[in-house]
Amino acid sequence: MTRTQALDAFKADLAGIRFHDDANYLSARSKDYFWYSPILNDLLQDKLGELVVVPQSVEEVTAVAALIARYKLPLTLRGGGTGNYGQCVPLEGGVIMDLTRLDKVREIREGYVRVEAGARISRLDEAARETGQELLMYPSTRQMATIGGFIAGGSGGIGSLRHGMLRDPGNVSYIKVITVEENPQVIELRDDAIQKVQHAYGTNGIVVEVGLALTPATDWIHTAALFDGYDHALRFATSAQEGGMDCYLLTAVERRFAPYYTKFGDYFPADRDAIFAMVAPSELARFTAEAEARGPCLLCDDQGRNPRGRSSARL
Ligand SMILES: Cc1cc2nc3c(=O)[nH]c(=O)nc-3n(C[C@H](O)[C@H](O)[C@H](O)COP(=O)(O)OP(=O)(O)OC[C@H]3O[C@@H](n4cnc5c(N)ncnc54)[C@H](O)[C@@H]3O)c2cc1C
Repeated sequence: MTRTQALDAFKADLAGIRFHDDANYLSARSKDYFWYSPILNDLLQDKLGELVVVPQSVEEVTAVAALIARYKLPLTLRGGGTGNYGQCVPLEGGVIMDLTRLDKVREIREGYVRVEAGARISRLDEAARETGQELLMYPSTRQMATIGGFIAGGSGGIGSLRHGMLRDPGNVSYIKVITVEENPQVIELRDDAIQKVQHAYGTNGIVVEVGLALTPATDWIHTAALFDGYDHALRFATSAQEGGMDCYLLTAVERRFAPYYTKFGDYFPADRDAIFAMVAPSELARFTAEAEARGPCLLCDDQGRNPRGRSSARL
């Protein structure tokens, strides 16, 4: 059977499962953020899938998996498509499975949430916050990325300072996977066994549901401290971390990036290096005092406002 015949037969057997095959849609769904890299951009920019399927339920995912195996078509799984190494790019054409319709929060209780893999991380965090809890960590692509894509393709992120990496014990405790076989299996992995599919880029199964730890929510204060030297910025962040300061994020940003943070305007001048931070309210005074103790320093929130209501004059 040729690829065209296999695809036609696949489409005919989809029996109502939603799919798209128009050129613009295919082009958009065949890319992630690989274009950050000029090397990957040269290698991947022309790669295209031939069909996008959008299952609405685990049953539809299972039906698609069986058809993929029957017609021996290449399959690329896709969440929010925010990976930056081309993990979502269909190298051999074939079918792209968009998992974003699997977005239901199945169970939420103290310290735990079980959710379908295609749920956007921002929506999931909002659902957790409605119960007074929050996610342990998320990538900076929180708005678009899915929780399944994070587990299959990510590693850690904002919050990791406090809670470690995704792979650390207890952070992800349950994953349900569908295999790609003519008779797909449903495999439930618990605790350490989740490592078999965590960070495997969907190459050994389709993640359809995950169980994650939650922690009591904190009303994090977004702030930034500026330093006269990257070394001063790093020393401040290291000492804050070693001193157990309760932060969700401490990220050093070198002065050459300053012009790209346009919303900060004058608050992030090109002659200063920054620590971007999310600080617990109870720690803000300590954060400020320790930053200022290291020399001239200016603090502002993520809108470029000074959180202490003081003028923007450099201290
Ligand atoms: C500016 C920027 C900042 C980023 N910051 C971080 C960060 O701090 N930490 C971090 O870890 N990553 C980061 N990333 C990478 C990426 O955004 C995250 O890992 C994100 O969580 C991926 O989720 P996604 O839904 O977009 O996954 P996708 O890009 O859609 O997929 C990622 C991988 O997982 C596979 N996959 C997707 N869904 C499933 C599924 N249901 N079952 C099996 N496999 C699946 C895909 O085939 C692909 O291999 C960043 C990327 C950018 C562009």
